[in-house]
Amino acid sequence: MIKFWNKRLKLGLLTENIELEDEIKELEKEIKDRVKKSFAGSLAIRMVDSGSCNACEAECNALSNPYYNLERLGIYFVASPRHADVMLLSGLMSFNMTPHVKDAYLQIPEPKWVITLGDCPAMQAPFDKTYAINAPANNYLKITHHISGCPPTPLEIMRGFLEFLRKI
Ligand code: SF4
Repeated sequence: MIKFWNKRLKLGLLTENIELEDEIKELEKEIKDRVKKSFAGSLAIRMVDSGSCNACEAECNALSNPYYNLERLGIYFVASPRHADVMLLSGLMSFNMTPHVKDAYLQIPEPKWVITLGDCPAMQAPFDKTYAINAPANNYLKITHHISGCPPTPLEIMRGFLEFLRKI
């Protein structure tokens, strides 16, 4: 026991003290200010997967971890389109998902916006040649902003949200 405590005292604190990168700090400040100004401090996002490989969703999941912690800035992912301000659309617009995407869009109350996430929703060739894909998504929805990448990193998604907030 004495040996254990001697070692602990000698080594000190070993847990990491994660410092947020400077860019993230700046992004956070502006996002928070703009969400407060344009959405009364609370921006609700309904994510809709129209046929993705799930990597874009995995990157979005990271936005909820303690490092990025998007909820602290007033941006929330919600389960129902009826509670949403924005639809975040990922994946290729598959034939089978197209009516569900349109339906989810109709359920979002006005005013509403669509952000496309990842390269899939913006791609046309070669998917416009197959019956299974209705590419690109902007043939079916009015897209306000596109976040490119395959998949975009959490930082790129945050930058994309800020560009969207600057636009509206
Ligand atoms: S953009 Fe890339 S990562 Fe995102 S759903 Fe498409 S293939 Fe997957």
